[in-house]
Amino acid sequence: MLARLALKLLLTLGHSAVDLVKSNIEITPFVIGFLRSFQHELRVSATHADQIKIFVDLLRQMCCVFRLQPASKPAYQSITIFQKESAAPRRPPVEAQCLNTLVVACMELNLTEETNNLVETIGREARLIDVRDYATMLLPFLQNLKSTAEDRSLSHTDGMFRNLYGSVMSAYLCRYVGKKPGRVTSLSRPPVHCSCMDCSRLNTFLRHSTHQVERIAVAKARRHHLHKMIDSSRSDCFHETDRSTNPNTMVITKRFTAEMKAANEWEKRAKEARDWIAKLGRAELDQLLLDDPETCAIFQVIPWSGKNAMKQALPRPAQGVSGAGAAEAIPRGVKRKLEIIDLTGDS
Ligand SMILES: [Zn+2]
Repeated sequence: MLARLALKLLLTLGHSAVDLVKSNIEITPFVIGFLRSFQHELRVSATHADQIKIFVDLLRQMCCVFRLQPASKPAYQSITIFQKESAAPRRPPVEAQCLNTLVVACMELNLTEETNNLVETIGREARLIDVRDYATMLLPFLQNLKSTAEDRSLSHTDGMFRNLYGSVMSAYLCRYVGKKPGRVTSLSRPPVHCSCMDCSRLNTFLRHSTHQVERIAVAKARRHHLHKMIDSSRSDCFHETDRSTNPNTMVITKRFTAEMKAANEWEKRAKEARDWIAKLGRAELDQLLLDDPETCAIFQVIPWSGKNAMKQALPRPAQGVSGAGAAEAIPRGVKRKLEIIDLTGDS
């Protein structure tokens, strides 16, 4: 809207409007909007030397202070913060189509140096944008640009576009998709803060790196105390009562709530990435990212065949259970209230 207003001023007042844009040159979305309208409305072409001069001048100045990060706070700089705050999707600072139109305009005007500069600048900015803006701004931009390149019989991952695709995909995979959660290697949990005999036994179990299930046969009042201590701790344990014994037995099982959540969320992001990679050309990107070990490590584990990352994050059977295993440790007659952790067949 503001960009169109500036354009109208340019048409009616002449160069004073250019000064207005220059005085707001650090507001990249505004300047991009202006340049796009300028190019569209005035039909910038080789016969309009003065207009091209203005266009190039503004473009160069904009690239010096180019910024696609949102003006409003907070900007989600990492997927961890984004997940913690459950931020909703939002409109990106610049529409993908605007970026594409601007690059195409530069190419059509044979502004080789300016096109290179603009493309490089966008690639650099990819490492700083809000992580929500990859899917709504830079990835659709790359998709549009791929079509543009194909229309001109160019490879979208060669020449001046090579660094752009490499930079955006590297930033997207490292900052948004992130490393695949590692397998749980220890079942050790924080102890409860009580030194009574029952809690000492409980803590021995909680601290143990491989025991997943513990059975404590004590009377109701002592079970209630253990119940309260477990629920007020960060041990992520599920407990239930086996009423087939006298006294009844409290059966405590270590869960993997955080690990399963992280694995599920990573899997969801990896599937989104898989769809984008397919649209942008998997084979080309594979070659492009070979020289970047961190990005390559993420790229290579994207689940193309729908492997279950959650199962993979859980411990291997040999490490995860005490005695005969979790399934056998919960006796018959005990009602299973929560999920049963599958520790078998995870390969
Ligand atoms: Zn206690």
